[in-house]
Amino acid sequence: MSRPEDSPWAVPVAQIASRPGQSKPIDAVFPAPSGIGDAIVGVDEGADVTVTGSFDSIIDGIIFTGRVSAPAHAECTRCLKPIEHPWEANVTAFFPFDDSRNARNGRGDKGEVDIIAGEDESEDTYPLSPDGAFADIEALLRDTLVEALPLQPLCRPDCRGLCSQCGADLNEEPDHHHETTDIRFAALADFKAKLEAEQGE
Ligand SMILES: [Zn+2]
Ligand SMILES: [Zn+2]
Repeated sequence: MSRPEDSPWAVPVAQIASRPGQSKPIDAVFPAPSGIGDAIVGVDEGADVTVTGSFDSIIDGIIFTGRVSAPAHAECTRCLKPIEHPWEANVTAFFPFDDSRNARNGRGDKGEVDIIAGEDESEDTYPLSPDGAFADIEALLRDTLVEALPLQPLCRPDCRGLCSQCGADLNEEPDHHHETTDIRFAALADFKAKLEAEQGE
C-alpha cells in the first residue's frame, strides 16, 4: 500500500496544520510530473522543478503561495529552432481541511466551503492527504506548468521565421526574397507546356 509520504511530491504540513497562522517556507526541487505538454512544447518527466514560497495555515485549510520554475523544451513556431528557456509561474493554491474537520468547527464553516467550491475550485484547490499531514503538490505542479507553457513560443519576439517558399531562415538572410510574379508565371508556363504537349500527341 502506498502511503502519502512516499510520494515524491508530498510536503509535510502537519506541523502548521495544527493551528492557524503558522507558516512553513519551501525552497526545494521536485521531479516534473508526467503529462506536461508534448514533444514540441513541454517539460520532460522527471526534470528538476524548483518550488519556492510558503505554506500558510488558515482556519479552514492551507494556502500555498510561491513560484514554480522548470526547464521547458520548445520549438520556435516561426523558425522551428529549439528554444532553451526556463518557464516560471506564480502560484496560489488552497488545500482545504476535509469536511469532517470543518463540521467539528460548527455549521458556519460549511457554508463558506460551499461558496469557495462554487468558484473555480478545480483550478487551484487541491486535497491534503486523508490524515491532513501532507500536501501532495503533483497535480498542482502539473496544472501550473501546463498553464505556463506558451501556446506560440518564439525564439525572440521579432523572429522573421522561414521563407514560405523555400524554407530559408530569414533571420540569417534578411534580404532573402523571391520574385513572387515568377511563381505565378511559372505555373502558367507549366500549364501552357502541358496543353501544347497534349495537342502535339
Ligand atoms: Zn524563431
Ligand atoms: Zn525562399
